[in-house]
Amino acid sequence: MFVFKTVSELQQYLNSRRANGEQIGFAPTMGALHLGHLDLMRHSKAQNACTVCSIFVNPTQFNDPKDLEKYPRTPEKDLTMLESVGTEVVFMPSVEEIYPPGLDLTLKLDLNPLDQVMEGAFRPGHFQGMAQVVKRLLDIVQPDRLYMGQKDFQQFSIVGYMIRQLQLPVELVMVPTVRESDGLAMSSRNVRLSSTQRQAAPIIYQTLEWAKSQLDLRAIAEIETAALQRLSLPDFRPEYFQIVDGKTLQPIINPTKHDWIVACVATWVGEVRLIDNLALAQKTIPG
Ligand code: AMP
Repeated sequence: MFVFKTVSELQQYLNSRRANGEQIGFAPTMGALHLGHLDLMRHSKAQNACTVCSIFVNPTQFNDPKDLEKYPRTPEKDLTMLESVGTEVVFMPSVEEIYPPGLDLTLKLDLNPLDQVMEGAFRPGHFQGMAQVVKRLLDIVQPDRLYMGQKDFQQFSIVGYMIRQLQLPVELVMVPTVRESDGLAMSSRNVRLSSTQRQAAPIIYQTLEWAKSQLDLRAIAEIETAALQRLSLPDFRPEYFQIVDGKTLQPIINPTKHDWIVACVATWVGEVRLIDNLALAQKTIPG
């Protein structure tokens, strides 16, 4: 496994792979890896000769400086895990390498209205920062395929929109959410939960499943309100539970008019903010 810290070393290596006619799969991460991240590598390895994983905690997508400071960092364990699934290349750049002085990295792309709802409403500026770093990393790596998790559904939608709008030559692949055996979506933030909070956290997934069971029985607004009530446990502070159209991310009223319906949730559990989502109905394939 090659570990590169600079853009020039990485590009030199990838150019040699490309010159051999090999395809490159890429999965950007912020480290503190878990089995969900490794699944991105597995998907990439199945479709590409060369898999690149980046580990970069991107400061421009953290709207809360405390969240950035507390974000878990486990670089040595990450490298061991990546090696265990046969990742060929790891890119671990510094902030200066990604944002060198003098390089204009302004993303000239209006993400409205995809970035105004849900995560965008509660984390102002987050998606501009996320899209900026994904664009920069795509420019650097120039992969054939980009692998991202369904776990961050809104992020996936926005990256898909950016790829289409900027006509970037990359195929975006959605990797299904990997869950713990009790249903909790794997997340780097889970390690910050106390044991009591960890025991309670599966209610998030249970509530999503409950919402799915109610889709044909109750009005959307009623499901959303009841779901928020279910999540109102001690130490929990739900921010939103929204049932949206899977393509536009806009709220829906009449489910029969939509082919793809997704419930998205964000809640604080103590000091930890968790997100999750579930497709409640899906008659179309994302893409
Ligand atoms: P992060 O390091 O949390 O920014 O995530 C990096 C990538 O891993 C993103 O594309 C995430 O959507 C994906 N990811 C994170 N958690 C999971 C999970 N539980 N299952 C599948 N993909 C995930």
